[in-house]
Formats: sequence, C-alpha cells, structure tokens
Amino acid sequence: MSETTPSADDSGARTSPVALPIPSLRAPSDGAQFSTDRRGRMLQDLRISVTDRCNFRCVYCMPKEIFGRDFAFLERDELLTFEEIERIARVAVQGGVRKIRLTGGEPLLRRGIEDLIAKLAAIRRPDGEKVDIALTTNGSALALKAQALKDAGLDRVTVSVDSLDEETFQRMNDVNFPLHRVFDGLAAAHEVGLGPIKINMVVKKGLNDHDILPMARYFKQTPYVLRFIEYMDVGSTNGWRLDDVVTADEIVEQISAEMPLETLNPTAPGETASRWRYTDGQGEIGVIASVTKAFCSSCTRARISTEGRLFTCLFANAGYDLRELLRSGGTDEDLDAALRGIWANRADNYSERRASLTPGTRRKIEMSYIGG
Ligand code: SAM
Ligand code: SF4
Ligand code: SF4
Repeated sequence: MSETTPSADDSGARTSPVALPIPSLRAPSDGAQFSTDRRGRMLQDLRISVTDRCNFRCVYCMPKEIFGRDFAFLERDELLTFEEIERIARVAVQGGVRKIRLTGGEPLLRRGIEDLIAKLAAIRRPDGEKVDIALTTNGSALALKAQALKDAGLDRVTVSVDSLDEETFQRMNDVNFPLHRVFDGLAAAHEVGLGPIKINMVVKKGLNDHDILPMARYFKQTPYVLRFIEYMDVGSTNGWRLDDVVTADEIVEQISAEMPLETLNPTAPGETASRWRYTDGQGEIGVIASVTKAFCSSCTRARISTEGRLFTCLFANAGYDLRELLRSGGTDEDLDAALRGIWANRADNYSERRASLTPGTRRKIEMSYIGG
C-alpha cells in the first residue's frame, strides 16, 4: 500500500475531481469518538465549502483566464443542501469535531447562509457544548450580512485583505473591488461581535510583498490579528512557482527588524498559524508557512467540497462521495461508519513531501472548490 491514502495520491493528471467510493470495509459505529488516523491525528476541524462561486478573481486563486464566462460552475442540484450539510456536521461533531469553518468560493454568496449557520449552531457536542463556527470571507458582503450572521449563531469571521494599497488590492482581486467596502464589512463584523477577527494576507512575491510592513503597522493598532499566508500550490490553475513564495522566515525577519517579535505557544493543537507577539506588548501576528514549514503532523482537518465530497487533504485530487451516500438512502449510522473508516485510513502529508514530488505531474483540486 502507498504511503498516502487515495484521496491525496499523486498518480497523475486528471481533468476533474474524482469521486472515491466510500470504503466498503467499515469500522464499527459504536457512538464513541473517532479513532486517530494512520499518523495518530484526531479529526477536530471540519471545513465546509458552501459554494464554488466567487465575485472576486484573485490572481492566486481563481485566475480570470480560467474562471471566465465559460467556466462550468456546479449546478444548484449538485450542491449539498443545508439539511445534508447539517447531517454530515452533526455526525462529525458526535465523532469529535470541535470547530466548523464555512468557506468557498465566497460563502456569503450562498443564498440563505444564515439559515445554515442557525442549523449548525444548534448542534451540540457530546459534552453538551456548542460547536465553534467560523467563516472565511473576502468581506465584500460583510457589511450587509454581519448582523444576520451573528444573530444566526456565527462565532467569528476571518477576512481576506491582501493589501492596503488600493491599486494593489484591486489588481489582486482582479474585479476592481474597492478596499473601503471590505473595511466597512470589517467594522460591521467588529461592531456585532464576530470576533476575534483574523485577517488573511496571501503574500506573492513581486505583487504585494511591499505591503508586508504597511499591513503589519496598520493592523498592530487594531483588535484584528493579521495572518500572513505563504502563497501555496493549491489547484493547478494559478501558475504557482516556488520563486513566487515569500517565506515565513523572510516575513517575520522583515517585520521584526522594525517592530521586534517573539514566538508564542500555540493556543490549540492543530493550529495552522505559528504565532508571534510584538515585544512591546502591542498585539500579535500569525504566519501560515505551509510551503516552508509543513504542519502535516498536527493536521486535524477534513474538508467537505460544495457537492459533498470529503477530502482529507487540501492538496488531494479525489474525494469520498458523501452526497451519493446520503442521496441513496444512507442512514446517520452509515455516515458515521463511513467517516470513521475514511479518517482511520488517512495518512496524508502532502506538504511534507512537496519537495520530493515532480512539479506539474499531478492535478489538484482548486482552492475555490475545496475551500481554504
Ligand atoms: N472567498 C473567501 C476568502 O477569500 O476569504 C473564502 C475562500 S478562500 C479560498 C480562503 C482563503 O484561502 C483566503 O484567505 C485566500 O486568501 C486563501 N487562498 C486562496 N488561494 C490561495 C493560495 N494559492 N495560497 C494561499 N492561500 C490562498
Ligand atoms: Fe474568491 Fe476567496 Fe478565491 Fe479570492 S481567495 S478568488 S475571494 S474564493
Ligand atoms: Fe493537512 Fe495541508 Fe498536510 Fe494536507 S498538506 S495533510 S491539508 S497540513
């Protein structure tokens, strides 16, 4: 058997995501927490993509040349319904999931997203606690929706902001979306209490690396925690090259030279960002170094794509077809057994192996499809 599960294999190019059948060898469903995977990791976080569509065309995620007018997005009946998402989430939470993150595409484009959040907020963990619900957004509709999201039970948001420079910001979203509207959304989210709010900045060399310091200076004075993300080789359409990556070390070094930083301990196991605190006590930053410092050994995440495939790695090229299981009459027990079996068999560690793989030899799922 290969070192990785089939969902993260590197067996060659494919034109579209492949659906893996649910493993026929099913672990017994005994109502207890799911067991660890083949590398000793627990399932704790579920990321759910609620749409593959987006109103932005960020150059590192949905380049216009590929995601143009003719691009075949999923049809409505292909999407998981809110009831189907709720069922999967409930079973996963019973098995140990503590955090759910809604993503996409742009999750606020999914009509009635508040109704889904209300359903998820009603789920209780085995200890009776509410599950933590977060959402990652480009912020474009946040001003409009913040109150309704909060009322529905959303705990917090992460907002993507790649630059404070209007020209660079618009060049990166590639649809001329103005920065001030994202800031209106941020203010609204802060006002209704959707915090702690995190800001995601993807850094791409030659595009927005000149904004690292201005972003750090600005957000240091706000209640928001800025996280720098190394530009990743997700999907196969963004033309990723290692040379375009500004490394976590370079980012921290640059900021620290002006505003000294010291490391902080992680607050939770499986945390993707390494945390740094300004030595003057005025705030912190996070750095997500999935290219240069792989964190696969603590990867406790599973991802559900918009049409209901379960991916156990962000860099997979195939996922398990949970929608088929649900729509062919599968019970919650079947779902529970399927999730247990898939997780128990998982051995993904793509980022740890990236350097030894031949670039361009495998087709991967797009970020806008699987969710970041
Ligand atoms: N549309 C929402 C947004 O942009 O926040 C949610 C979905 S987006 C795919 C989730 C996160 O993935 C965003 O913070 C985005 O910046 C990040 N992302 C997308 N493509 C990336 C890439 N190639 N490398 C690193 N991060 C990426
Ligand atoms: Fe849309 Fe988010 Fe991708 Fe940008 S990063 S294109 S906002 S899904
Ligand atoms: Fe998890 Fe990312 Fe490693 Fe895949 S590459 S196992 S998603 S940390």
